[in-house]
Amino acid sequence: MMRAILVRQFGGIDQMKVATDVAIPTPGDKQVLIKVICSGVNPVDTYLRSGQYSKLPDLPYIPGKDAAGIVHSAGSLVSRMKPGDRVFMCQTNQLGSLAEFVTANEENAFPLDDKLSFEQGAAIGIPYFTAYRALFQKANAKSGNRVLIHGASGAAGLAAVQIAKANGMHVTGTAGTQEGIDLVRSAGADAVYNHRDKTYLKKLQNGELFDVIIEMLANVNLGHDLKLMNRHGRTIVVGSRGTVTLDPRDMMGREASVTGVALLTATPEEWSEITSAIGDGIKAGWVKPVVNKVYSLEEAGQAHHDIIHSKGAKGKLVVKIQD
Ligand code: NAP
Repeated sequence: MMRAILVRQFGGIDQMKVATDVAIPTPGDKQVLIKVICSGVNPVDTYLRSGQYSKLPDLPYIPGKDAAGIVHSAGSLVSRMKPGDRVFMCQTNQLGSLAEFVTANEENAFPLDDKLSFEQGAAIGIPYFTAYRALFQKANAKSGNRVLIHGASGAAGLAAVQIAKANGMHVTGTAGTQEGIDLVRSAGADAVYNHRDKTYLKKLQNGELFDVIIEMLANVNLGHDLKLMNRHGRTIVVGSRGTVTLDPRDMMGREASVTGVALLTATPEEWSEITSAIGDGIKAGWVKPVVNKVYSLEEAGQAHHDIIHSKGAKGKLVVKIQD
């Protein structure tokens, strides 16, 4: 038996109780069973828990799509990993990573380099994979492009800054606090603006336009993004929490485009491209996940609360499950 957060009904964080008698999952032939040291918290975990997502798991379920830990056992057809290996993983469905053990398909688990901690390992999956997909598979970003990461202080934004800089782009980021601004600058951004400063859009508009915009809060910013794009500019919507008013004419003269991204719809070929590029980044050393705060399993509900309600992101929220 293991400890896990077992959600029996969709709803608030009061549904996130620790259960102590959850059966340890059995890995299939092409799966590994991972002893979870840290679980990464993503905004999507909260949309799922509250029942506000297009595809919901059957109840009861264990939340958590990202994790880092140690391979405990491996199915008979697994060739890339063995018990004892340090790994991080991304993607679960019913039985997630807010638990002492989680299973992962072989293609969703990856070696965790010794230079990264388990906390950092739990911060890689969804943020880095999404940032890569947005920049390259959706925006077709190239070295030398001018890129705006609109919301760069959170987990996905910092990942996007690191990936864009490692690939030779000129990066402008935004954050909502001085600490966030400093963090985005230290991640490599060439310029950083405060998206809570009422004049920041004017400052951005007076500067050079952007080839690529990675948008974390489209319901607030998309109308402005259209005016900030270069000819043939591409805005990629990563995050949005509502509706927005915009003027389509802003796209016409520039022949600019807006595209949505959904990491978990990537094809197996796209997934393999994403994961091997981030694996290369880990080896090269430019994947440097920033962990903001570490919670205990009992505090997992608080982590779900904070990822949606706190202002002033500084990287990733992580739940430490065990040593
Ligand atoms: P996070 O760590 O909570 O970061 C949220 C970011 O939004 C912070 O940088 C925050 O900045 C910024 N923000 C707040 N107000 C803003 C504004 N007015 N304009 C621009 N940015 C603003 O979350 P995350 O993990 O990075 O995810 C970011 C968003 O992407 C979420 O909505 C998430 O659901 C979505 N997402 C989507 C996918 C996908 O496949 N489509 C995958 C991953 C994430 P301050 O706190 O400094 O103000």
